[in-house]
Amino acid sequence: MVRIDKTGVTIPAILDNSGQGDLLTRQMMVDYDNGIREFKISSKIYGHKTVKEALKILQHGKCCFCEARVSHISHGDVEHFRPKAGFNSKPRTKLIKPGYFWLAYNYLNLFFSCQICNQSYKKNYFPLVDETKRVRSHNGKLSQEESLILHPENDYPEIHLTFNKEVILPKSGSQKGAETIKRTGLDRKKLDDNRLEYYLTMEILARVARDSSNPESTAAKAHFKTLGLSSSPYSLMIRCNFLT
Ligand SMILES: [Zn+2]
Repeated sequence: MVRIDKTGVTIPAILDNSGQGDLLTRQMMVDYDNGIREFKISSKIYGHKTVKEALKILQHGKCCFCEARVSHISHGDVEHFRPKAGFNSKPRTKLIKPGYFWLAYNYLNLFFSCQICNQSYKKNYFPLVDETKRVRSHNGKLSQEESLILHPENDYPEIHLTFNKEVILPKSGSQKGAETIKRTGLDRKKLDDNRLEYYLTMEILARVARDSSNPESTAAKAHFKTLGLSSSPYSLMIRCNFLT
């Protein structure tokens, strides 16, 4: 996981001011204030191809959680960081409704993710450090909520997560790091296997980079820098193992 920066990006027209998403959000807010608690949310709007494409480009085709390159092998999901329809703060509890309906079409709440991180792990989980501060409508202040799952933009994942080879770990005992690993399945076996395969190749490249007598050393060092950029898959693993 690495930070995704949406500063200055163009919001897709369907979600921007007076776009369909914006108009429906305003209506839901009025409905909520009039006592309505059930909302229909349209995947045709938040999952519109212009929205997904913009997120894919911004995230270099990578999942916002596991950093696997998704876009060339799968359609991927438009994931709501704060769940749109209802939320769970703990496993095996009933879904609490409504969810964060007023953020269903908010671009800042949307990220591109792989289907496994989103559908098999994160689902509707949205645990908080302090449940008494949970915001239940657009009338509350989101800044008072502190999510236990790392926010892909508002948090800096490298403060909370680290790697020992291919194995992801909470950094310095970070509770948020531990919860993020658990709730998005960042330590799942298939992901570990895929990262290990990549890591072992990188270990060989690192030996070339460190050996100044090797004519390929300079090129290997330069390539490592590229692999540590946010545009590359598993870049936090590369940074933690080879670029610190
Ligand atoms: Zn993923």
